[in-house]
Amino acid sequence: MAEKFVLATHNPGKLAEMKAILSGLGVEVISLAEAGVSVDVEETGATFAENAMLKAKAVCAAAGLPAIADDSGLCVNALNGGPGVYSARYGGEGLDDRGRCMLLLNSMRGQGTRAAHFSCAVACAFPNGDTLTAEGRCDGAIAFAPLGDGGFGYDPVFLVPGKGKTFGQLSAEEKSAISHRGKALAAFAEKLRAYLGK
Ligand code: IMP
Repeated sequence: MAEKFVLATHNPGKLAEMKAILSGLGVEVISLAEAGVSVDVEETGATFAENAMLKAKAVCAAAGLPAIADDSGLCVNALNGGPGVYSARYGGEGLDDRGRCMLLLNSMRGQGTRAAHFSCAVACAFPNGDTLTAEGRCDGAIAFAPLGDGGFGYDPVFLVPGKGKTFGQLSAEEKSAISHRGKALAAFAEKLRAYLGK
């Protein structure tokens, strides 16, 4: 029987992506609802890796099953790495994705460098105390105006230099092949394969 892992997210897109990546390892990924747990973890960590581990450990403890969590965000050089771990909350609760993109573009006015990167950390916690972590990063630049309506979050304002397009102009497959999350999940799948093969 496949070993069950709980994915600590309420995002159905992330669950589908994780299922697809881990199905080849004989691992079954279930949602928080399927595991019968409801945990609201405060993201108090200073890094993506810390926040991912906080979530994975809390869900593992609540479900009694291995748990996987991720945390990600956009780091802009001219903003000293911000909004970083605050990406989802940038500008406060009143803003939606579009509002956060516009706030970011305004904050970038007159800045000499538009370099930025997305980061993603994946953490896995096992009931025996073992943990696994993996990270992925995608370098790019902040556009001068939103372009494309694909994806979510800061996708329309994140330019991928090699493509001359924003994440918002890429298909889901094109984005996953180069994205911070795609890279972190691929690295995590390799680590999990090695761990389960031990
Ligand atoms: P979380 O990892 O789901 O907590 O996401 C943190 C926040 O970072 C999101 O709400 C987005 O604002 C931003 N973010 C993370 N990954 C992406 C991405 O792939 N595209 C656009 N925005 C992202």
